[in-house]
Amino acid sequence: MRRAGQVVAEMHEATRAAVRPGVTTAQLDAVAREVLDRRRARSNFLGYHGFPAVICTSPNDMIVHGIPGDVVLHEGDIISIDCGAIVEGYHGDAAFTMGVGEVSDAAQRLIEVTEASLWAGIAQLVAGNRLHQVGRAVQEVAEAAGFSVVREYVGHAIGTAMHEEPQVPNYWPGAPGPLLKTGMVFAVEPMVNMGGPETKLLDDGWGVVTADGQLSAHFEHSIAVTDDGPEVLTLP
Ligand code: MG
Ligand code: MG
Repeated sequence: MRRAGQVVAEMHEATRAAVRPGVTTAQLDAVAREVLDRRRARSNFLGYHGFPAVICTSPNDMIVHGIPGDVVLHEGDIISIDCGAIVEGYHGDAAFTMGVGEVSDAAQRLIEVTEASLWAGIAQLVAGNRLHQVGRAVQEVAEAAGFSVVREYVGHAIGTAMHEEPQVPNYWPGAPGPLLKTGMVFAVEPMVNMGGPETKLLDDGWGVVTADGQLSAHFEHSIAVTDDGPEVLTLP
């Protein structure tokens, strides 16, 4: 899983470097494919319930699951890029959001708070804790900044499949979660909205946007619970 995570980290590095005004989301997908090919890794996104690409690209008010295509990125946009890879049967999954050129202070703050909420969640992935502590930590950071967390889409355990049980909500789920043990691996992925938490599914059956049209940001890492604390497998 460390090796799969490092391929994902490389996909992040390559796509991040390719983001600029005028680039299309299909071009970003091609950049990520090149990394997978070079590292002889397989895609866990391509073909997933028919998904046609190796990354998800979700600009502005799109929360997650955007299909790369002829969408052109413009100065001032924000873009979430979600990448995954399989190495020898083991999966990695991670996402980041960045500005395209110069973005508004409000957009930059949304990006920074969402990333901070991910790290607050990661810090709770300690053996002996319970899984709901992750979501509670994410929610506290996001809501303290005046933002909201998405309810309909959540993180997940990850291993020999991309999406394994249990789910990892980004909010207090109303009951204590399972006990965390060394060896468990989770994909924690806060989706934070500038406005309300409500979502809307696009007609393509994939893209999820904010119901109120306001911006949304998304960060994700795959993290192992170890005897020495959380180990972030998708960090370079
Ligand atoms: Mg992901
Ligand atoms: Mg995920």
